[in-house]
Amino acid sequence: MNQATPRTVLISGASIAGPALAFWLHRYGFDVTVVERASAVRGGGYNIDIRGAAVDVVKRMGVYDELEAVRTPPQTIKFVDSAGDEVASINTVDYVSQVNPDDLEIARGEVTKVLYAHTKDDVTYAFNDSIDTLDMHDGGVDVTFTNGEARTYDIVVGADGIHSNTRRLVFGEESRFSRYLGYTVAIFTVDGGLSSGAQQSTMYNVPGLTAAFGQVTPDGPAQAFFAFKQDDPDALREADFEGQCDLVARAYRNEGWRIPEIVAAMRSTDDLYFDSVGQIRMEEWSKGRVVLVGDSCFAPAFLSGQGTSMALIGAYCLATALANNTDHTAAFAEYDRSCRDFMVKSQDLALSGSLTVLPATQEALLQRNEVLRTLASRKEAGGGGELGAATREASNAIILPEAAEAAWPRRAASTWR
Ligand SMILES: Cc1cc2nc3c(=O)[nH]c(=O)nc-3n(C[C@H](O)[C@H](O)[C@H](O)COP(=O)(O)OP(=O)(O)OC[C@H]3O[C@@H](n4cnc5c(N)ncnc54)[C@H](O)[C@@H]3O)c2cc1C
Repeated sequence: MNQATPRTVLISGASIAGPALAFWLHRYGFDVTVVERASAVRGGGYNIDIRGAAVDVVKRMGVYDELEAVRTPPQTIKFVDSAGDEVASINTVDYVSQVNPDDLEIARGEVTKVLYAHTKDDVTYAFNDSIDTLDMHDGGVDVTFTNGEARTYDIVVGADGIHSNTRRLVFGEESRFSRYLGYTVAIFTVDGGLSSGAQQSTMYNVPGLTAAFGQVTPDGPAQAFFAFKQDDPDALREADFEGQCDLVARAYRNEGWRIPEIVAAMRSTDDLYFDSVGQIRMEEWSKGRVVLVGDSCFAPAFLSGQGTSMALIGAYCLATALANNTDHTAAFAEYDRSCRDFMVKSQDLALSGSLTVLPATQEALLQRNEVLRTLASRKEAGGGGELGAATREASNAIILPEAAEAAWPRRAASTWR
């Protein structure tokens, strides 16, 4: 029996892309370490969607049923105006969550929980730590960590999100790759007994500003989602938690409905996700022995509704390519070929998705409301589904490569160039 040492991979980031990649690489016989800056896998987040080809990926992972069991139940989304009056109402199953029959709408935190549970015993997770320096050479990548330790890996993967540390260290400053879309997003769990009403989400819109409030897990607390126009992304960068709450409070200070009580509740949340809304577009996803996956290299912005699906698919394609090739350059080229077109199509969705969630002008808002009312009445007459047509196309716009054989130790260091 071949006792060769397995190839070693360091993944930076333990959210969606990182643990999904770790899952597959472990199956293919790699020795995987995941380093995460936070003290644990970060849960939280609003509903996300696992759609189209990403559904096939979670089925191939064997976790579809587990995810389905904790999916967000079908909900009514009620759209309200600044006075809190209903302007339209649609059912998520009809229009949003099931663009394809097996699609899942699910709280983001439920996905991270499942991915972590399926990897924690097989790969090494190092929390409260981060890559400090990277030095590539023919034999591998020398890495030092912020906790002072040092180790050499065969491959390093940046799965550390839109503000990727790995990308900055290897490819350069974020500004070279980011495309700011002009909005800020704040998502948080609302504790303290503030109820959104079971089985219902409410979306509040005025031009350039949205707020959604709903229960995304059957018995869990309500989640709030704010997105608002912010011309200067630099204003956000240095803000601490209180500063972030102040920015949201200022943006929503004149708003009606239940906004004041939800904004007040934000100050006592412990899972605020606060960020600028933008995309990352890169011509190269790899350099030498370092490669990127997920938001770090193809962030689409939440407006696409595709970020999590893209991360799952990207992780699957990268792992397959690494398993199929003994040369990392060939593997990274195969990864790029297998999914770049898909990623670009999904990113392009974000540029039209804003019309539904974030109409920028009064005219666009009125038009959006009219479209929603028309769709709802067509649904009553037996039609429907139009809202998801572009998403359906984009979410299926890839032929997934076959999963590689889990043939340990074929892909061992001795065969790795
Ligand atoms: C707490 C949270 C809530 C979110 N909520 C939503 C939501 O409601 N809707 C939505 O559409 N998208 C949401 N997102 C974004 C969504 O998860 C991603 O767009 C998508 O799933 C792609 O995932 P990713 O793993 O590539 O990146 P991300 O999910 O952004 O994960 C990146 C990970 O890298 C870690 N990290 C960052 N810097 C370092 C570093 N220097 N060293 C080590 N680790 C580092 C982060 O802590 C994080 O765990 C959320 C992300 C987070 C982290």
